[in-house]
Parts: sequence; structure tokens; C-alpha cells
Amino acid sequence: QNFQSLQLSRPVLKGLAQLGYTKPSPIQSASIPISLLGKDIVAGAVTGSGKTAAYMIPIIERLLYKPSKVASTRVIVLTPTRELAIQVCDVGKKIARFVSNLNFGLAVGGLNLRQQEQQLKTRPDIVIATPGRLIDHIRNSASFSIESLEVLVIDEADRMLEEGFQTELTEILSLIPKHKRQTLLFSATMNTRIQDLIQLSLDKPVRIMI
Ligand code: AMP
Repeated sequence: QNFQSLQLSRPVLKGLAQLGYTKPSPIQSASIPISLLGKDIVAGAVTGSGKTAAYMIPIIERLLYKPSKVASTRVIVLTPTRELAIQVCDVGKKIARFVSNLNFGLAVGGLNLRQQEQQLKTRPDIVIATPGRLIDHIRNSASFSIESLEVLVIDEADRMLEEGFQTELTEILSLIPKHKRQTLLFSATMNTRIQDLIQLSLDKPVRIMI
């Protein structure tokens, strides 16, 4: 199978080609078509499986096909660490390189708060965030909100819980009703705490175990 057979748009195919991605990885083949349908997904996927592109590709396609008239943050990707957020942002920007009018933002600890506030004021389409810093911005910024959120990604959910982000996650989930958003959850392991988080955050998810 190649990426063309997943019916992706030309600019996305071009971005993937430039990244040197020729064939979808197993997690990408399995999840991209389901995600494009707007369904919630739980995927068991480790680092190295290509999970970042597995969620970024359909997100970028969605934004491309349903452009919004006003600037609004439509996608949030939650990661357990700043380093992973920066990496995810980088991959997203590369896939979207040939897509016009798509903006990425970061909301992570350890980077300049003022600078991030300025960036988030412009309401980037896709914001990659660590949970604590995202909540800071939602609480303290009059011009940033997640009320237009369409897709929420919880990446490395197991690590997120290990890092102690349960309370922050619950708060973020409570801000957007689950039937109003698409939620994609990725985790290397599936213990009972993850099962509880799945119950709380997903609506009739398709389970993908590679
Ligand atoms: P990830 O699991 O998202 O951290 O990705 C692991 C590595 O695989 C990264 O270096 C990606 O750039 C690379 N990668 C992801 N998808 C593909 C693909 N379809 N073909 C080749 N490399 C890929």
C-alpha cells in the first residue's frame, strides 16, 4: 500500500514525499482511514511506529477540506513533555509544508510565556501542548480559548498519567463535551488507569492494536 491509496490531498502527499515517507507504517494504514471518517480512536502504539504522522495526516486533511472562516484553534495535541511537543510540532509543520494557511502553535512549560501568549492570540489552527501549560493559557488569556475545538489528541497517554497530569487532563476534557469533538488516544501500554481515561474521554472508539 502507498499513501496515494489512502486518498490524501496533493499538498499532503507532496509533504510526505519530501519527508521521505513512501509507504504508510502499519499504524498509519490502520488508523488514517478511520480517523478521516471522524471516529474516535484508541491506538496501542509505541514511539517509532509512526504514530505522530498517523494522527497528523488526517488532522491536516480535515483542516484542508473544511477551512474555517475565522481564525480559531481547532485541534489540540496533548503530550506529556515539552520535548515531545516540539518534535510533534516539527513533524506536523513538515507534513503541512505545502498546505497554505495552516498555523501551528506551542503551549509548553519552559518556553517563554509572553511569546507563547502572543502566538496563541493569533489562534493557531493546531496547538501542541503539555496539559499544565495549556490550562494556564486557557485561564489567563482573554484571547485564547478552545471553544472551537474539533479534534483532541492525547499522545503517550500512559506517560501523561505517570507524569501526574490526571487532574489537568480531566479539567481539559470537561471543557469540551466528548460528542462535540473527535478524540484520538495513543498509548504504549493499556492498564486500568488508561481504561478509565478511555471511558472518560472517548465516544465509541475504534480500537487499533498493532
Ligand atoms: P514516531 O513513532 O511518530 O515517533 O515516528 C518514528 C520515526 O518514523 C520518525 O523518525 C518518523 O519520521 C518516521 N516515520 C513515520 N512514518 C513514516 C513512514 N510512513 N515512512 C518512513 N518513515 C516514517
